Amino acid sequence: MNFDSIIIGGGVAGLSCAIRCAEAGLKTAVIAAGQSALHFSSGSVDVLSRLPDGSAVSQPFAAFEALAAQAPEHPYSYLGAERTQSALAWYTAMMAECGVYLDALPDGQNHARVTPMGTFRATYLSQQSTFLFDLQHPAQGLSSVALVTIDGFRDFQPQLAADNLARHPAFAGVAIKTAAIELPGFETMQRNPCEFRSIDVSRVLRDESKLHVFAKTMIQQVGKADLVILPAVFGNGDGAATIKLLEGLTGFRICEIPTMPPSLLGIRLEEAMKSRFKQLGGLLLTGDEVTGGDVENGELKRIYTRHHEDMPLCASTFLLASGSFFSRGLHADRKQMKEPVFGLDMAQPDLPREQWYQDQFFTRSGHPFMKMGVQCNPALNPSRRGETIGNLFCAGAILAHYDPVSEGSGSGVAITTGYQVAEAMIRQYQLRNGLALNEHVSNEQDVKQPDSPQPVPERTPA
Ligand SMILES: Cc1cc2nc3c(=O)[nH]c(=O)nc-3n(C[C@H](O)[C@H](O)[C@H](O)COP(=O)(O)OP(=O)(O)OC[C@H]3O[C@@H](n4cnc5c(N)ncnc54)[C@H](O)[C@@H]3O)c2cc1C
Repeated sequence: MNFDSIIIGGGVAGLSCAIRCAEAGLKTAVIAAGQSALHFSSGSVDVLSRLPDGSAVSQPFAAFEALAAQAPEHPYSYLGAERTQSALAWYTAMMAECGVYLDALPDGQNHARVTPMGTFRATYLSQQSTFLFDLQHPAQGLSSVALVTIDGFRDFQPQLAADNLARHPAFAGVAIKTAAIELPGFETMQRNPCEFRSIDVSRVLRDESKLHVFAKTMIQQVGKADLVILPAVFGNGDGAATIKLLEGLTGFRICEIPTMPPSLLGIRLEEAMKSRFKQLGGLLLTGDEVTGGDVENGELKRIYTRHHEDMPLCASTFLLASGSFFSRGLHADRKQMKEPVFGLDMAQPDLPREQWYQDQFFTRSGHPFMKMGVQCNPALNPSRRGETIGNLFCAGAILAHYDPVSEGSGSGVAITTGYQVAEAMIRQYQLRNGLALNEHVSNEQDVKQPDSPQPVPERTPA
C-alpha cells in the first residue's frame, strides 16, 4: 500500500499532522496502536506556563525568547513564536469546524482552570464548557460557587475540592457549597461498581427526559450560585451541546472539570479529530502497531505492522508520533532509554539511573527523564547511528528537550510540532508533484528533494 504520508500514532500530535496533510490533498494513513494520552488529559491545551528555570509564565508567546535562551533545543525554540501561533490558530479554527470550541483569553494570557482537587492550573486554550478563571484573581466576579456531583459517582469528590478551594486566599469571601444529585434510573445501573464511570453517566444524561429531571433536582439542591462546577460526565461527542441545554434548563453558568480517566473532555478532542480526518478521506488503522521499517540511503522506505507483517506500507514521508513512555513510544531499561520501532538516536544525558528522577514527585524543576527522548534536527528529522533520516519526522511527546508536565506545554508542543511536520510534508509533496508552493510554505531550508526510486532490498531489522 502506498501513501503520500504515513503517521505512526493517533494522539494529538499524529492527528494534527494527519488532518493538515489530508486537508492539503495528501493520501494519508494513521496507524494507532492504542489509546492516546488525551484519554487522561483535561481537554485543555497547555502551551507554556513555566520556563525551565521554574519562573512562571503568564504570556506564553512573549516568553519564547527567554525559553530559547534557556533551552535552545526545545521544540518551541526550533519553531519560534510566530509559527507556533499560526499552528494553534489553525488548530482552533479546525476544531471549531468540528463543533469543539476552544477559547483563549483575548490578551494572549494564560488562564487558570480548576482541577478535580479544587486547585488551579495554568493553561492556554480550554473548551467552551470550561470556565476561564483569571490567573492572578481566580475568584474575580464570583460570590458563590457550587461543586456538584452525581450521587454515588466516585471519580469526583466535591467536598475535597471545596475544602481546597476554600483554602485559596482569593476565595476567602466566596460562599462555597457542595451537592450530590441523584441520577435518574441510578438504582437500575449499579450492577457492579465499575459500571458507574463518566461514560456510563453520559449515556443516561443523553436522554433528554432524564436530563430534565436532573436539571430540576439541581435547581432545588443548589439554589443560587454564580458558577456550578460539575465533573465532565456529559458525552464525548455531544457533551458541549448537552451542557448548553443544561445551562438553559437551570439558568446556571456551568463549568466542566475533568474526572479520573476516562476523561471525556480529552476524548472529545480525540473523537472530533478522528472524525475530521476520516471525513477528509484519511485512512485510520486502529489497534495495529508499527514494528519496524527499512531505512536505505537516509530515507525510510517502508514500514511493517503487527497485522501486516508481509505487506509493507510505503510512503514518501513518515511521522513518528508514538508518544512517550506512557504510550510506549519510548522504552526504558535499567541503563538506557530507547525508541523501540526504528532504534532512533536518543538525547539522554549520561546520568546514573537514580538521577533520572527527583526524590520529590511534585517537583517544580521537573524530573530529568521527562526531557529524554528522540534527538531531532531543527526540521524535526531524527537520526539513526548518526545518519539523518530525511523523510522521517518526529512530533509530540516522543521529542527530547522539553518537559510537558513541569513546563505545562504538553498538547501545545504536540499540536504545533505535528502541524510543522505536516507543512514540511506538504512542501515535499508539492515539489514532487510540480505544484506551486502554497502561501503557508515560506521556509525552504528544510526542503529535501525526493530521491530517485531505489530497488527494493532485503528488510533490515531496526
Ligand atoms: C496523564 C496525562 C495528562 C495530561 N494532561 C494534559 C493536559 O491536561 N493538557 C495538556 O496540554 N497536556 C496534557 N498532557 C500532556 C499531553 O497530553 C501529551 O504531551 C500529548 O497528548 C502527547 O501527544 P502525542 O500525540 O505526542 O502522544 P500520545 O497521546 O501519547 O499518543 C501516542 C499514540 O501513539 C500510539 N503508538 C505508540 N507506539 C506505536 C506504534 N509502534 N505503532 C502505532 N502506534 C503507536 C499510541 O497507542 C498512541 O495512540 C497530559 C499527559 C498525561 C500523560
